[in-house]
Amino acid sequence: MRTDVLGVAFDNVTIDEAVDRALALLEEEGPHLVVTPNPEIVQRAEKDPEFAGILAQADLVLPDGVGVIYAAKILGRPLRARVPGIDFAAALLARIAGTGTRLFLLGAAPGVAELAAVNLRAAYPGLVVCGFHDGYFKEDRPVADAIREARADLVFVCLGAPKQEKWIAANGAAAGARLYVGLGGSLDVFAGKVERAPESFQRLGLEWLYRLLKQPSRIGRMAKLPLFLVSAVGARIRKK
Ligand code: UDP
Repeated sequence: MRTDVLGVAFDNVTIDEAVDRALALLEEEGPHLVVTPNPEIVQRAEKDPEFAGILAQADLVLPDGVGVIYAAKILGRPLRARVPGIDFAAALLARIAGTGTRLFLLGAAPGVAELAAVNLRAAYPGLVVCGFHDGYFKEDRPVADAIREARADLVFVCLGAPKQEKWIAANGAAAGARLYVGLGGSLDVFAGKVERAPESFQRLGLEWLYRLLKQPSRIGRMAKLPLFLVSAVGARIRKK
């Protein structure tokens, strides 16, 4: 049973459980999809039925961002854990390193996925990165062909939402991998292009504040967050 938070149904899992499920999905024929919606993505899905449909069909829907956790609490359906996409990805890589599972990295500016591949191979000895491609391509088909030719099992698709989820829905079967994970800006972090917040901020659930301080231009995107929590309060009151 999933937990509905303003129209998106989340899996109520810890990060370890999420990784166990992803490993089980890697054992089966694909394509399977893991998504990591934050409040911005939930709000986007409200206005985009095609995107909402893709999220509803996903095999694993992980609550990325403390805003989703707060909203769930306000709605009276608390989720057990925040599962940031990048932490999930790192934990999954630790488990597949040395197993022969083949990882393909798709997304970000030219050169970034390649650098991320170098860093990930160093961080997870035995990890097989079978290929990479930047996220600024015109045609889908050659990219899907590259993933198929690389015989990828797992693909991190980092094109930003909802582009990455729509790309997976349209091309996942043709690309032939078993598991696709939509991971937004994670390749920039793995490549060392963008810093993550210090652990103290992460622990307090204030990673958003750190990102805002580093990149004040995000204020427009973030101004929508309080509205998200107000919607949760509204939904709660209407139910009563
Ligand atoms: N991106 C891409 N192709 C595009 C648009 C975006 O590869 O056509 C990449 C962009 O370079 C960045 C990521 O997608 O690496 C999106 O990052 P953002 O921080 O906006 O994503 P979030 O994690 O907030 O969803």
